[in-house]
Amino acid sequence: MPKALETVLEIDLKALQHNFEYLKSKLDTNIKFLAVVKAFGYGSDSCEIAKFLEHSGADYFAVAYTNEGVALREAGITKPILVLHPQTVTFKELIAYNLEPGLYNFKILNDFIETTTKVGLQAFPIHIKFNTGLNRLGFSQGDVSLIIEKIHQTSAIYVKSIFSHLAASEDLNEKAFTLNQITSFKEIRSFFKINLGYSPLFHMCNTSGILNYPEAHFDMVRSGIGLYGFGNSEIENQFLKPIGTLKTVISQIHHIEHGESVGYNRAFKSNGAIKTATLPIGHADGIGRHYGNGKGFVTIHGKQAPIIGNVCMDMIMVNITDITCNEGDEVIVFGEHPTAEDVAAKANTISYELITSISQRVKRHFLK
Ligand SMILES: *Cc1c(COP(=O)(O)O)cnc(C)c1O
Repeated sequence: MPKALETVLEIDLKALQHNFEYLKSKLDTNIKFLAVVKAFGYGSDSCEIAKFLEHSGADYFAVAYTNEGVALREAGITKPILVLHPQTVTFKELIAYNLEPGLYNFKILNDFIETTTKVGLQAFPIHIKFNTGLNRLGFSQGDVSLIIEKIHQTSAIYVKSIFSHLAASEDLNEKAFTLNQITSFKEIRSFFKINLGYSPLFHMCNTSGILNYPEAHFDMVRSGIGLYGFGNSEIENQFLKPIGTLKTVISQIHHIEHGESVGYNRAFKSNGAIKTATLPIGHADGIGRHYGNGKGFVTIHGKQAPIIGNVCMDMIMVNITDITCNEGDEVIVFGEHPTAEDVAAKANTISYELITSISQRVKRHFLK
């Protein structure tokens, strides 16, 4: 790998291929694979990731919002794209770009039927989302009859899939709760199989669901974090490879005397002679202020350098007193070791938050 000369997020597409194959190896061969590429492909680059996975054989893509789906279409993605959380105001755009809405309540179902009917569409693909315990988004099981009634009253839409989302698939202490969700979903599935008149796809599992609940794979699975290299457990993490390495460089080294302070608000005051490095990465790049004041760290020549003082918008200062290093040397924020999960844990958060926060001004380099 080339040495970083500025702040850069390296994306290893070989690692992505490895993760995709590992996750697919957990599935029966007839089960479809939906790749979740919302939030810029979990902070990497949704278009590059989707292009790569489309070529590697992913069956479906999902994003959270309509504009994310538009970006994929504009990048040339042709596979179906599920928009998990659309709003009515985006329907015209969603239809124009041939995106498929996840519909989660009667208001949005009615709105979508109205829009598609008005423009004279036939059998436009939709997905119906059920809430089975997460209590976030989705119809209730009790809504099934009325949903079927609405669907049978129109020819404008066609149910491509029915899905639900697990609340605690990574937490085996919540196994009883998860099994209840699966049972509810099976009941919903039986109802639709009998009453819909055709066979949509059924799907429920995210990454941890794929790994922990093979009995809930149904017709398709939806994986996000696993593709990017995290399995929500130490065991699974061993089999996955983080695809992103966030690197930066040392811009300047300072020798700080006893009693001097570092950074805004003089948040760090030295009680001895120390050496600091200033790095060109800050909260505007995704290193939140909660990593400041000794919580977070970076790695320089294999050694940990804690972030001192407040995280600035464009810079952080780290303590390099015990590290032999020079201006221009490479700095690792996260990657294979330490992982984004390790770094995130220092600030009481999770890999998902750290990786999706890396802002768009950080250059992405792809290793092919
Ligand atoms: C984000 C999301 C996923 C992907 O979850 P991972 O834990 O990243 O695999 C799957 N389904 C839905 C509905 C989501 O919102």
